[in-house]
Amino acid sequence: MNVIDIGFDRAHIWHPYTSVIDPLPVWPVKGARGVHIELEDGRKLVDGMSSWWSAIHGYNHPELNRAVCEQLGRMSHVMFGGLTHEPAVTLAKEVLGITPEPLDRIFFSDSGSVSVEVALKMALQYWAALGKHRKKSILTVRSGYHGDTFGAMSVCDPETGMHSLFRGFLPEQYFAEAPRCGFHDSWSEEYISDLHLKLDRHADELAAVIIEPVVQGAGGMRFYAPHYLRRLSELCGQYGVLLIFDEIATGFGRTGKLFALEHAGVVPDILCIGKALTGGYMTLAATLSSAAVAETVCSGEAGVFMHGPTFMANPLACAVASASIRLLKRSAWQESVSTIERHLQEGLEPCRGFDGVADVRVLGAVGVVELDHPVDMGAIQKRFVDRGVWVRPFGRLVYLMPPFIIGFRELDLLTSAVRDVVRESGSRF
Ligand SMILES: *Cc1c(COP(=O)(O)O)cnc(C)c1O
Repeated sequence: MNVIDIGFDRAHIWHPYTSVIDPLPVWPVKGARGVHIELEDGRKLVDGMSSWWSAIHGYNHPELNRAVCEQLGRMSHVMFGGLTHEPAVTLAKEVLGITPEPLDRIFFSDSGSVSVEVALKMALQYWAALGKHRKKSILTVRSGYHGDTFGAMSVCDPETGMHSLFRGFLPEQYFAEAPRCGFHDSWSEEYISDLHLKLDRHADELAAVIIEPVVQGAGGMRFYAPHYLRRLSELCGQYGVLLIFDEIATGFGRTGKLFALEHAGVVPDILCIGKALTGGYMTLAATLSSAAVAETVCSGEAGVFMHGPTFMANPLACAVASASIRLLKRSAWQESVSTIERHLQEGLEPCRGFDGVADVRVLGAVGVVELDHPVDMGAIQKRFVDRGVWVRPFGRLVYLMPPFIIGFRELDLLTSAVRDVVRESGSRF
C-alpha cells in the first residue's frame, strides 16, 4: 500500500495560495468515488466543492473513465499544429451544439486562465486588424475573478487579486463598480451608471469588456440581475467595444441554466469555458467567438491568430469532455440542480440569524454564507473534515457547490455541517 509522504509534500511542494514557511495542513486523499473523497486514513468526506466547480458528475464515473481509457488506447496526445483528430472535432461539435449562435469558432487551450489570455488577445488583434491601434485596454467590474496568469489577473478584482504586489508589470485596466443589483432585484439604470460612464469616457482605448455572467465566483461569490447583461451588451454595441463572457465557473449547468448567459438571453462576442468542461477529469478550456470576430482577427497584419499551446486540444481531455457533455445532456440535470437549490436554500437560510453572518444566498447549485469577518482557515477546515464533509471556505465566504449527483442525505450532511460550524464558531473564527 502506498503511504503518502506528507513530510515530503510539506517540505517541497507548493499548494495553491499557500505559504511554504508555515503551510496549513493538507489531507492525503487515496481515492474518490461519486460524491465522496476518501482520505488515506479511510475517512470518507462528502464533497461540497466539486473540486472547484468542475466535478459535476462526481468522481470516478464509469462512463467518463471508459472515455479516457478508450482514447488512451488510441493515442494520448499529438501536436495540433498541422494535425487534427476525432476527439477534437467531436468535442467542437458538442460544444458548438450547446452554445448559442453566432458563436461558431472554437480555440482549445489548456486551462481557464489561458482561455482568458486567448480571449484578451483575440480582442486586441481584432481592433488592430481594423486599424484601431489605440483600443488596447480592457474594462471590467470589481469583485471579478478571471484567473492567475498576468493578463487574466489584470482583470481580477484589484484588491483580492493583489494588484499592488505586481504594479509596474501588470497591465493596468479600467474598473467599474461591481454589479449591486441582486439576482431578483428589479432593474434601475443606476446599477450600470458607473460602467456606462467608463465606457463613455474610454471607448477609444477599450478593446473589450470582460465579465462573469450572473455569478461572480472566486472574486466574492456574488450574484447579480441578468438584466445587467442585457444593458451591458447594448452599451458595448453602442460604444464599439467587444463583450467577453467568462463562463469558466458558471458553464455546464451550475446556475440552473446550461450557461449563465441564458438567464439574460445575451450572446457575447467571445466566450470562455473550462472547469466542468471535462467533468473535472483533467485540464481543458476553450475560447469561442463568432465567425465574424475570428475572420477579422485573422485579416490583420499577422494574418493568423497568434497563439498555440503545446497541449492544445489534448485528445484525452477532448474525449472525456465529449463524454461529460453527452452524460450531462442525457441526465435530468435541471431537476438535480433545482433540487439542490431548494435544499441549499432551506439548509443554509437559518445561518442568516447567527452571529457573524452577513448574508446567505443561493443560486442553482451554489450556496453561499458570507460572514462579516474572514475565517480562520486552519481551524474551520479541520472542523469540516471532522464532520465528514469537504468544504473549503475562503476569506469571508463559506460556500457549497456539490456535484449534481448528490443525494438528499449527503446534502443534509453538508448543510448541517455548515450551519453547525458557522454557529459554533460564531465570532471565534
Ligand atoms: C477558475 C476560473 C478561471 C481560471 O481557470 P484556471 O483553469 O484555474 O486557470 C477563470 N475564470 C473564472 C471565472 C474561474 O472561475
